[in-house]
Amino acid sequence: MRRLSIGLRLTLWYVAVFAVAQLVFGAGMYFILRQSLYSITDDALHDQIDDLTHFLEAQKKNATVAKLQEEVSETYLIEHSGDYLQIYGESGDWIFRSSALARSGIAPIEPRLVEDQQQPRDVVFDGHAFRLLTQRVEVNRHAYTVQTGLPIDQVLKTLSLFRRFLLLFAPLLLLAAATVGYWLSRKALSPVDLITRTAQNISARNLSDRLDTPKTGDELQRLSDTLNGMLSRIEAAFLRITQFTADASHELRTPISLIRTEAEIALRKSRGEAEYRQALRHILLESEQTSVLIEELLTLARADSGRESLQLRPVDLRAAVLRTGNEWRQMIESRGLRFDVTADEILPMVTADRSALSRLLAILLDNAQKYTSAPGKIGLEVGKVDGKAFVAVRDTGIGISQKDQAKIFERFYRVDTARSRSRGGAGIGLSIAHWIVQQHDGTITVQSEIGKGSTFIVEFPLRRETSKSETDISAIAGAPAGSRQLSKH
Ligand code: ADP
Repeated sequence: MRRLSIGLRLTLWYVAVFAVAQLVFGAGMYFILRQSLYSITDDALHDQIDDLTHFLEAQKKNATVAKLQEEVSETYLIEHSGDYLQIYGESGDWIFRSSALARSGIAPIEPRLVEDQQQPRDVVFDGHAFRLLTQRVEVNRHAYTVQTGLPIDQVLKTLSLFRRFLLLFAPLLLLAAATVGYWLSRKALSPVDLITRTAQNISARNLSDRLDTPKTGDELQRLSDTLNGMLSRIEAAFLRITQFTADASHELRTPISLIRTEAEIALRKSRGEAEYRQALRHILLESEQTSVLIEELLTLARADSGRESLQLRPVDLRAAVLRTGNEWRQMIESRGLRFDVTADEILPMVTADRSALSRLLAILLDNAQKYTSAPGKIGLEVGKVDGKAFVAVRDTGIGISQKDQAKIFERFYRVDTARSRSRGGAGIGLSIAHWIVQQHDGTITVQSEIGKGSTFIVEFPLRRETSKSETDISAIAGAPAGSRQLSKH
């Protein structure tokens, strides 16, 4: 089922709350009005009984019933001719019954049925409502039953008028409240509508558009600011992706057109086996490099999408570096370069992903040997400094200028495009290295001087506990225990 709009829901809530408040207020007002009208009447009834009691007290103690009847009639018929009053003696003998009461049709009292201190009650006689108070009063050792009454037609009329007023105006008031409530909610939510309309118009083509931000300092400004912040992040990510796609396509175009040209030239006329072999060798080499490039691009794409997750475990960094050093030794030395591997004797464990770690070292060592010509030197060092583990890769190669040092970790950045490409690099290696280091909460820095060489230093945070395997790695390294310089050529 489709949910109602916020504006309508707010209005309904508002109307519901208003209706309950109105009901409570109306019922309360009615109750208070009724109470006060009745208490005025009841006070008057009590006053009448008090007056009568005083009158009876003023009579002679041994006055006969007949005398009393005469006295009461005289006084009350003249002074209180309109009162509703009747008095009975102890044994039920009638003393006084006012003419107003007799006319009203109110029945004579049955004294035996009258309880002491009765509360006033409503009665209707001949279509007229009365409030009657019947009480037993004791005067000069004589008990009398006294009943006074007041017509309450007016009171009831006032109450019914008030009730009608409430019943008539409550729905009108509710309707007015609903209209105002709806108008208010529309007014309050209209900026949200505006934001929605603007947001609906933003697509990939105009991602740089932003929502108007009302400078009100309220929730709407915060909402607009938050959405604008989100748009900026999406735009940055989008630009990154489009840039990446463009760069990746560009990088792939070169080797593929090389492969194609090589094949086309080879097929243009018939050639000897040696020539075909030569062409196929070139194609194979180019294809291998393209595979590596595609693999690197995939790594970056997976890293961007968050799918390239690393398995971080305690790793003996010293052993891992020494192992990688052994793997690379032959390759580096075959290029006429000297390769030195040095390691601190004891090194606490680090938290790392083994394969990512060897990939990082491979990128740095590969670069070092790529950009260093014989008879240069390459050094690989692992150790501890300032409470952190570090791995340094030094070379005596071509070096990197200060300006380029700031950019080499960016994707597809190559210092010298032509030279770098001829060595097989697409400018991705260091950006992968940078990502790996970031995933390890580490840092990677470069120190370099043109013509003198470069040093890449990676620092990793150490794990708290130390492992017994730390001291027992000489077997893996194939170096004599206790020696810092593990290998020298
Ligand atoms: P590539 O695959 O092109 O080597 P990288 O991202 O690994 O890409 O490196 C980016 C650029 O940094 C390289 O093109 C190169 O110019 C420069 N660079 C990297 N390592 C070294 C180094 N050890 N000596 C000199 N220049 C280097």
